[in-house]
Amino acid sequence: MNIHEYQAKAVLQPFGVSLSKGVAILKASDAEAAAKQLGGPIWVVKSQIHAGGRGKGKFKEATAGDKGGVRLAKSVEEVKQYAAEMLGATLVTIQTGPAGKQVNRLYIEDGSDIDKEFYLSLLVDRVTSRISFVVSTEGGMNIEDVAHDSPEKIISFSVDPATGVMGHHGRTVAKALGLSGDLAKQAERLVAQLYSAFISKDMEMLEINPLVVTKQGELKCLDAKMSFDGNALYRHPDIAALRDETEEDAKEIEASKYDLNYVTLDGTIGCMVNGAGLAMATMDIIKLYGMTPANFLDVGGGANKEKVTAAFKIITADPNVKGILINIFGGIMKCDIIAEGVVAAVKDVGLKVPLVVRLEGTNVDAGKKIIQESGLNVLSADDLDDAAQKIVKAVKEAA
Ligand code: GDP
Ligand code: MG
Repeated sequence: MNIHEYQAKAVLQPFGVSLSKGVAILKASDAEAAAKQLGGPIWVVKSQIHAGGRGKGKFKEATAGDKGGVRLAKSVEEVKQYAAEMLGATLVTIQTGPAGKQVNRLYIEDGSDIDKEFYLSLLVDRVTSRISFVVSTEGGMNIEDVAHDSPEKIISFSVDPATGVMGHHGRTVAKALGLSGDLAKQAERLVAQLYSAFISKDMEMLEINPLVVTKQGELKCLDAKMSFDGNALYRHPDIAALRDETEEDAKEIEASKYDLNYVTLDGTIGCMVNGAGLAMATMDIIKLYGMTPANFLDVGGGANKEKVTAAFKIITADPNVKGILINIFGGIMKCDIIAEGVVAAVKDVGLKVPLVVRLEGTNVDAGKKIIQESGLNVLSADDLDDAAQKIVKAVKEAA
């Protein structure tokens, strides 16, 4: 689960992390009070969306101006103007995709006098099974480009969970960033604070870009991107409460209510499959025959009629779906149960696009019989290859 920058900063604050003062607002009419409360003389007006690259982003609406999604304001009047321009407008960044995201919240911060911009992140490293720090002097910009063009400028190390973070980790970061004296001490403190926040909140990723040194000699986190391990959210109700469903895909939210593993993709063939491996194979074979999947969907081993119906509804509600392929291997799950679910769902929500069903495994004959006798316009397939070819052909014919 992702959260907004201003929320991430509020999570970090109790750990002693050095941050700018800020006020989050939802309405442009609150901008003046927020600006006055902070005092100035420089403010930063920041769009809050679940995507990075806001500074270099562009708004779709001409009325929002062309100064990007993160703006420096030099007066209360400018803060008010930027707030009015940005709230409600759609911001497109390299991370939002061409559709962009509507800005419904702003974070107004005390502006900092930046001397240097660095990059620092923590993440769960699957290779070492530890938490790794990634540090670079090349902050503010796209870290992927730095990794590609000058990998030697990225320093990374992992922390042994048995010892936790130690003095030498902090010194490694200070050295990597070329900091000495008091700034090196601040870096050591920050490393310990961020690690502690990461562990105690079960984070998956914490990215500070930029981490800055101000002209006043302070090491400060100017941006914070944070995501959490969904499986650990049950023990952090304070974090779970920060969820902003307007930032998430409505179909994925609906799928999560039924415990379906669902991810929206940008193709045209809706897929319903049991088992993640079979789902991947199904997506591959659709691509092999020249089309692309509209989603990844694993209904799981223990799917029942209700789950199948819910899954079918989510797929058919997607206007991008031009054909559906159901590919079920009945092991623990029986083919006749799936067939009943499919027939019930089709009767319930209707079927406007071609549907191919491939069933194999436990009770396969009973399952096929249910589909045949349903009188519904469902194409039956014998194996995965056959199924993929049939759905691609049917969609091409229907177009
Ligand atoms: P992102 O573009 O979504 O990563 O948003 P950031 O929060 O990183 O802001 C983008 C850029 O705005 C930063 O890299 C800084 O260069 C600049 N910026 C952010 N806060 C301040 C500030 O307090 N003072 C100044 N001078 N620049 C800032
Ligand atoms: Mg940033």
